[in-house]
Amino acid sequence: MNPIRLVLHTHWDREWYLPFERFLDKLVPTIDLVLDTMKNDDRFTHFHLDGQIVLINDYLERRPERADELRALVSAGRLSCGPWMSLVDEFLVSGESIVRSLDDGLRAGDALGGATRVGYLPDQFGHVGQMPQILSNEGLRWAVTWRGVPALVQRSGFRWESPDGSHVNVVYMPFGYAQGARTQRSAGAFVDRLRLEQERSAPWLDDETQPLALMTGDDHEEPNPGLPDLIEHARAEGLDVAIASLDEVVAHRAAEETPVVKGELQGAKAAPTTRHSKVTPASELKVKVGVVSLVGPVGPLSMAV
Ligand SMILES: [Zn+2]
Repeated sequence: MNPIRLVLHTHWDREWYLPFERFLDKLVPTIDLVLDTMKNDDRFTHFHLDGQIVLINDYLERRPERADELRALVSAGRLSCGPWMSLVDEFLVSGESIVRSLDDGLRAGDALGGATRVGYLPDQFGHVGQMPQILSNEGLRWAVTWRGVPALVQRSGFRWESPDGSHVNVVYMPFGYAQGARTQRSAGAFVDRLRLEQERSAPWLDDETQPLALMTGDDHEEPNPGLPDLIEHARAEGLDVAIASLDEVVAHRAAEETPVVKGELQGAKAAPTTRHSKVTPASELKVKVGVVSLVGPVGPLSMAV
């Protein structure tokens, strides 16, 4: 069966069905636990902080005393940082906001110890056709995405081209960014879960040697400090399983993916993508919970996804 690379992460809807401050109250202990776990266990080699730096900035406002510790982990490649400032909904902000979110994110990430150079796009409700152009303009060669990918893509990768001809390679997550969410805490159940994910992912992978990048986390999910022990047990059971970063995942992919997909991604077979779906419901929810501000870090309407 395919090797499994666990990309441990949490996905952060910064302000959505709860106000910003309520989510911040959950963010701080979540990142505390990430830092504590990494400090106490070298086997917990990497954690992916959702592709957006804004949550690190939010955290450091509450925990300025942990800035050096966090920077050291970013510099060591154990904690991902960026590349985006914020994961914006691409159809709700201007093109300028998308470009600046990436540009600002890369600079802020480098200042923190080294920005991730993978265009992580986990939960946007479809993608603008210029995204490969925006990424490649900054020197990024890979994207990782889910919603919007057309049904003609029947494997875990493709080449995505913008109207100007520029392109990136894409790691497609056919089961979303939460395929490995809520990992089982008992050793036997963990092994069963890995085997299940191997089985359902196998048709999407090239052959039995291609690693399955298993996104291990979900919306606002805390890390599981017991994972290194569970992984050791799974290895003893014969599974090839390890923790990996997205940089490591793309390093083991083909230089040029196929098939070629051109322009906007609005395919809705695998997951909902209606470009306006987040506007009305989210705004109504915000009004209901008393949150009316639509001002964010990268533009006048920088709704995060
Ligand atoms: Zn989201």
